[in-house]
Amino acid sequence: MMTEKGYYGEFGGAYIPEILVATFQQLVTAFNKAKADPVFWEEYENIMSTYSCRPTPLTFAENLTKYFAGPRIYIKREDLNHTGAHKANNVIGQGLLVKRMGKNRVIAETGAGQHGVATATMAAKFGFGCTIYMGEVDVDRQRPNVFWMERLGARVIPVRDGTRILKDAINEALRDWAGHMDDTHYVLGTACGAHPFPEMVSYFQSIIGQEARRQIMDREGRLPNRVYACVGGGSNALGVFSGFIDDPVELIGVEAGGKGLETGRHASRLASKDATPGVAQGYKTYFLQNNEGQMKETHSVAAGLDYIGVSPILASLREKKRVRFEAATDEEVLEAFSLTLEKEGLIPALESSHAFAQAFKEAPALGEDDIIIINQSGRGDKDIFTVADAFSDLEWIKFIQKKAEKYDA
Ligand SMILES: *Cc1c(COP(=O)(O)O)cnc(C)c1O
Repeated sequence: MMTEKGYYGEFGGAYIPEILVATFQQLVTAFNKAKADPVFWEEYENIMSTYSCRPTPLTFAENLTKYFAGPRIYIKREDLNHTGAHKANNVIGQGLLVKRMGKNRVIAETGAGQHGVATATMAAKFGFGCTIYMGEVDVDRQRPNVFWMERLGARVIPVRDGTRILKDAINEALRDWAGHMDDTHYVLGTACGAHPFPEMVSYFQSIIGQEARRQIMDREGRLPNRVYACVGGGSNALGVFSGFIDDPVELIGVEAGGKGLETGRHASRLASKDATPGVAQGYKTYFLQNNEGQMKETHSVAAGLDYIGVSPILASLREKKRVRFEAATDEEVLEAFSLTLEKEGLIPALESSHAFAQAFKEAPALGEDDIIIINQSGRGDKDIFTVADAFSDLEWIKFIQKKAEKYDA
């Protein structure tokens, strides 16, 4: 799928300052060597199975299947990974690569804090030094994650520049990297950024799709009709989609519809018409930006989907019409979240609940012989305060009323 220098159609590439060229080249070489070495993937699978619960189960959602009287619904359980999400697949993979490169320090940027915790966990496991950059605003919003990162031995540096959020933390992390290339690796959290990150992160996440394909074939003896995944940067979606990309299986990426696409308060780059192609943060993709290239404010109930860019690989797959993109609103997401808890006893992350919401919208129109897979990218324990807030005020009353009307109908 990839062409020269990490382009996917017109998207991707590596737009990096001169000073970082050598370290990116070193990373590309190390990654290509590791990929060509069968022992590397074996080592990866081994540590993922002994440290992070892989292979994760593919759960048949019997009650939801009955409830919708539509397709047989399966859930891929990335929530059972160590630290509670698919992010472990990526950070452990990069950690193994860091060992191979002979480096001993990792840095990362984090917005919601989940990637920071995953990186700090990996650093503790492998004995690396660890520094996490975080916008000052996010440090205040994500106290529990900051607490754990520090207990895990990481240094958390609040970034006071600019708007004091994720993009400012990215700039600061790149500055650190440029000053410490000899011993330091920058652990990017999703399938975005300059080449080779989109390819490398998708490569580690492809373990989800490999397992899911094997599991559904074992269980049903055939492929699913559709696979659903939420899309922030795009790594869990690319991971599960990769298992079915060459098959006649419909792939659906679900973005954050926030308050509704028509309100402009969302984080939908590929399902809305509000994003335009551009180059930022080292790569070319669709960004939510205005005419002057200034990044827009995004909104989502799920912090992990609240991002202005999106994987160049997904941008290209949309252009090729290989993946269909949809958006689920905050309200639809909370409803899907509640239904999944009540029917299956599973707590999906609010990010993952976007995939559930879209699948539930489409389920009634599918037949009983159809099969769908929903990727549960993470667990929702972390969302306790967001969910409690959402359900505590007037919204909650509206929500209950709507639900009652639905059941009565
Ligand atoms: C970070 C996160 C996401 C968004 O990241 P992707 O790269 O799009 O997968 C989705 N779900 C969960 C649970 C997350 O923690």
